[in-house]
Amino acid sequence: MESVYERMERENSKWKAAMFRVKQQLPYEIKKMYAARRALQFQRECGLRDLNYHVSVGGLDSITLYLFLLSIGIEDVKAVSVSSLENKTIRKVHKALHIEALKPSMREDGTRWTKAKILQEFGFPVLSKEIAAKIELLQNPSEKNKTVRHAIITGETGEYGGFQTSSRMKLSQIWLEKFGGYENENEGVNYSKPDFLVSSKCCYYLKEKPCDDWAKEHNSVPYLGLMASEGGRRAKGLMLHGCNYFGSSTIRSAPFAIFDRQDILRLALEMDKWYQEHWKKFGFDYVESVIPKVYGEIAKDSKGRLYTTKAQRTGCEICGFGVHMEKRPHRFDLLREQNPKAWQYWMFDCCTDSDGNKYGWGKVLYYIGVPYEWDGACMVNEVGQLSLF
Ligand code: SF4
Repeated sequence: MESVYERMERENSKWKAAMFRVKQQLPYEIKKMYAARRALQFQRECGLRDLNYHVSVGGLDSITLYLFLLSIGIEDVKAVSVSSLENKTIRKVHKALHIEALKPSMREDGTRWTKAKILQEFGFPVLSKEIAAKIELLQNPSEKNKTVRHAIITGETGEYGGFQTSSRMKLSQIWLEKFGGYENENEGVNYSKPDFLVSSKCCYYLKEKPCDDWAKEHNSVPYLGLMASEGGRRAKGLMLHGCNYFGSSTIRSAPFAIFDRQDILRLALEMDKWYQEHWKKFGFDYVESVIPKVYGEIAKDSKGRLYTTKAQRTGCEICGFGVHMEKRPHRFDLLREQNPKAWQYWMFDCCTDSDGNKYGWGKVLYYIGVPYEWDGACMVNEVGQLSLF
């Protein structure tokens, strides 16, 4: 069987990644022109293949992408979103831009997935998508994922991964200590394990699948607002396959692949201006700005770098991805301030264990060492310098 290394050689991946990095260093105006060219090429190629195209719109990046595509003449691009999951100021912009609202996907029992059902049945989206996916594998052992589980604990990849001994598959030590206990017997280690489930499937069932299903139904392929500079699972794919990818099972365009945060914020400002001049032509409703209020404003710091004055990221208020890296007040603190009832529910009541006891994010945050206020006390575990007072 071909190893990962041999495959990488075959794909000439090093050279592709180097070329990609060169493009990332280009000046903004050139990157913008490049993005427009790639988006138009994708549109043409879709035309030849008799495919429609759309944008799955969420926060600022994909709102900017949608307007950018319209501004360069791709006026028949459709826009869809599971808007109900977004912050209300984002929903307002979606509504003004007449973005088609989709519902979360259906379950086998004929009801729709909700966040609470996902947490209960699959587990909590916490730490990062990559880490959650690894923990999920440990929690769901099978003969098929045996090699990967071994790599997650030890870093050893075996024959398929080119016999690496310290691969990136290994969980970092801090999370191994907390979540590696599922493999204690197999690996002769002595790690802990939590009494809750972790999962990376939340976005898939609530956001991605509804958009994928819509796409299939409409014979449509997506433009995505992904940027390699944001890292994560998809960065490598963007570097290897470039902006436009027509694979056997995946077709997509990511015209902003070579952008960085500065580029997207600059383009967001330009698209806001463009919207002010064109909203009537496209039959949109009027909003003061298409930069949702949850982000505040896009301003310049003392070094001339753009930043959003409020949220840097959005997504769901009760998402645990990245919460361990946030300074206080973190997103759960803010939720407590803004909506104490919702906070109470998500922290302590959204799931039920096998003994019928309610629990929620409070248990998860405590376990990973993220402090939170509770009844005037501060709950922190040993990872986050324990104090309970
Ligand atoms: S952003 Fe977080 S909470 Fe929202 S759907 Fe995705 S994983 Fe779930």
